[in-house]
Amino acid sequence: MSGTSLRCRVCERELPLAPVSACPACHGPVDVAYDLTEARLVGGDGAPRSMWRYSDLLPHPPADLDTPGLTPLVAAPRLSEALGIELLLKLEDANPTHSFKDRIAATAVASARAYGFSTVCCASTGNLAEAIAARCAANGLEAVVLCPRGDLPLVPVPAYGARVFGVSGGFDDCRELEQQLESLFPWGFVGGNLHAVAAEGAKTIAYEIFEQLGASLPDAIVSPAASGMLVAKLAQGFAELGELGLWREPPPRLYAAQAGGCPPLASAWADDRPLSRVRPATEVRSLAIGDPVYGELAVGAARVSGGSIVAVPEEEIAARTAFLAELSGVFADSAGGVAVGALLDLVRSGAIAKGDRVVLVVTGSGLKPYGYGVSVTAEEVDFDVDAVLAALGVAPS
Ligand SMILES: *Cc1c(COP(=O)(O)O)cnc(C)c1O
Ligand SMILES: [Zn+2]
Repeated sequence: MSGTSLRCRVCERELPLAPVSACPACHGPVDVAYDLTEARLVGGDGAPRSMWRYSDLLPHPPADLDTPGLTPLVAAPRLSEALGIELLLKLEDANPTHSFKDRIAATAVASARAYGFSTVCCASTGNLAEAIAARCAANGLEAVVLCPRGDLPLVPVPAYGARVFGVSGGFDDCRELEQQLESLFPWGFVGGNLHAVAAEGAKTIAYEIFEQLGASLPDAIVSPAASGMLVAKLAQGFAELGELGLWREPPPRLYAAQAGGCPPLASAWADDRPLSRVRPATEVRSLAIGDPVYGELAVGAARVSGGSIVAVPEEEIAARTAFLAELSGVFADSAGGVAVGALLDLVRSGAIAKGDRVVLVVTGSGLKPYGYGVSVTAEEVDFDVDAVLAALGVAPS
């Protein structure tokens, strides 16, 4: 959209919107900047029923306006009652490949087309890879995906015709490899020359929450965090609502949740010190990022909004994922269990008070091979109703 540019986060230099991975002057990270004086939050009548209804506030228009986004925001009455709060769930598992990464992929691929790239490369632990592979397939672009070798059997990316490499190492190594490839190939790189535009997709969750609550905002948001991109972009989205003159009160408190086995943000928060990278040792694949690119922004977002960053012990996570499913009917990626674990902590400590209206972001689905943190083995019974009743401990009447 016209008036859209890039701005260096360090030296604040403005650059034209282009596929660059860093500021040419100081090598700082770049973000997309908008001229908000002309922008509307939602397009006119007949605005798309997808995240593309916010195209004034996104870098490039897509080929297909129908998807992803505009996911349900639903009440969770049983969980609300159990916790004494008003809890709503933002169901990002309702996106085409069942995680919020479809929003990142949609902006990345729209921009890749605008820039004239025919191939898009990304590093991923699974969800981003699937989202990029699917969006590239829908748009006729090639996808090249770098995944940790250990996660490979769990990534259904070949189904979309993408090229997949199982890399010896973890996500952070895959990202480094992506950066090395960037100097060699004329492609779009989600962690490089498309990074600033790709990340913009995540903020549309903030806009949707605002619209879905009838132009209001909750008291608090609880979201899992790995790279910190989602939390940082939620904060940006809420700030932009203010800049557009649509919201005058304080933005929601942002609470980020990390897996105990990979807590770089939570550790920096707890010790009030700068970030340092960790070696991921978590079962939660979607959160196994030891070197969070948006870490400082995420920590800042938690601090400025009056929220915090919480680590949830590994041994609690599967039970929290199951707790969410049992009390809400939503089977989340184990990242959702991490968010629920943090929510329980925050309610217990009083950081989230009785009666608060809280949105928990269900970032992905448990119905992915790598989403299972919960045992899904079934009991076996014979084809016999009495056997079923016996297993249930109910006497036939
Ligand atoms: C990517 C992902 C996250 C973490 O998001 P960041 O933006 O990297 O902090 C959380 N949950 C799921 C399901 C994801 O795929
Ligand atoms: Zn700069």
